[in-house]
Amino acid sequence: MIVMKFGGSSVGDTRRIQRVAQLINELQAKEPVVVVVSAIGGVTDLLLTAATAAAGKNQSKLTESLKSLRGLHLQVAAGLKLTQSAQTELNDLVDERLAKAGQLLQSVYTLGELTPRALDAILSYGERLNIHLVANAIGPKARPLEASNFIVTDDRFGAAQPQLEKSVRRTKLVISPLIKRNFIPVVTGYIGATAEGVITTLGRGGSDYSATILGYCLGAREVWIWTDVDGVMTADPKVVRDAHTIAELTYNEAAELSYFGAKVLHPLTMVPVALKNIPIRIKNTFKPEIEGTKIAKKISENGTSTKAIATIGNLSLITVQGKGMLGVPGVAARMFDAIAAEEINVMFISQASSEFNISFVVQYGDGRHAVKVLKEIFRYELDIRTIETVKIEENLAIIAVVGEGMRGHPGIAGQTFSALGNAKVNIIAIAQGSSERNISLVIHQHEVPKAVKSIHNQFHLAKKQNG
Ligand code: ADP
Ligand code: ASP
Ligand code: MG
Repeated sequence: MIVMKFGGSSVGDTRRIQRVAQLINELQAKEPVVVVVSAIGGVTDLLLTAATAAAGKNQSKLTESLKSLRGLHLQVAAGLKLTQSAQTELNDLVDERLAKAGQLLQSVYTLGELTPRALDAILSYGERLNIHLVANAIGPKARPLEASNFIVTDDRFGAAQPQLEKSVRRTKLVISPLIKRNFIPVVTGYIGATAEGVITTLGRGGSDYSATILGYCLGAREVWIWTDVDGVMTADPKVVRDAHTIAELTYNEAAELSYFGAKVLHPLTMVPVALKNIPIRIKNTFKPEIEGTKIAKKISENGTSTKAIATIGNLSLITVQGKGMLGVPGVAARMFDAIAAEEINVMFISQASSEFNISFVVQYGDGRHAVKVLKEIFRYELDIRTIETVKIEENLAIIAVVGEGMRGHPGIAGQTFSALGNAKVNIIAIAQGSSERNISLVIHQHEVPKAVKSIHNQFHLAKKQNG
């Protein structure tokens, strides 16, 4: 059996949904499939706009967003050309679901407060609507299912983590009988629920993760992620025009790339399937004949160099600096303990060998708070000047150069730096993972396109992948 996930861009309008439905029916004729769908492209953002408007008591924006959501779904539904009764049923269902979302939004409006729990409940409606559109397009074999009934997660709203063993039992109970009877389960991506049944989301882009969670639970042969590009590419094709599709990646390479911003996969997608050695394929919905990218534990050819470049922007670099830090044990531990206690995610750490300073990168939204926390815990050291400054630099990006083949091949870092030097890109900080699978650099955000292109050229990535 294969679990197949279709992203928001693959189900963006009626024509695309019909295309997807046809593909699913063709594939299911050969082998059982479990389908995972995202919300229609742009819908999760619209729900987010509505929620923010509600919390900010902006009634007109709230009404307008709800109207757009209704219009969009009814328009797609109308295009499916169903029988009169199926059409009426589907339209009623869209209205009923949106009325429920509307009630939640009105309570947020009344309270003037948007909790992470309420936000997850609101954002869940995109997927909970779309399974019905896709199921109708597939036809009588399809069975729409809400994953909140069987994917069990913790209660970290907005970034919930699955409890795999609990989910296995429930998922098999719901899905296995349907597969046996030749049905096509059409499951909501992105969402789950706590053991108590409270809706959670797995984080933006989380439908990829849903697919591999289900792949794990059902012991799928493979998980296929259908999207709007030919596979994982040597760089974001929106930044580098001659970026090329990579035939094979290891789980670790794919995880590093997605962690450092390759949006094509949610960063945790590889975790569940790596536990069972289930391969992932990334394929283009609109060009299914293309092989795409295979992601597995072992691949046929690792090469001897860099494979791909990823970037993540909107970051801040915090630097704690002072001569008094030299050789004093525990400074770093205190720093990162304090940051962790605030649940701030540290994406990158670099320490000068003199121990004169320690720098780390966080998301823009956490930067100033991190500085405040550090100034508090180091108040004494700042007073006596053993620590001189805690400073912040904003509008930064990380650029990560990734490839298993980099390990044990000297010169990759040198080539990366000379590419950036030639392109006149200023490097602010450098770190290399001890795995030697990645080198990451902090640069100014506005230099990202130039930097990515120069490294891409330096390693002849477009040409190499072309064979
Ligand atoms: P979906 O709606 O199918 O989930 P996403 O928009 O989440 O699709 O992810 C696909 C997009 O990821 C592509 O359109 C592309 O712009 C972007 N992307 C960024 N980096 C890469 C990369 N290295 N390879 C492929 N796509 C990438
Ligand atoms: N619809 C969700 C989002 O936009 C999940 C996904 O697309 O994977 O983030
Ligand atoms: Mg996505």
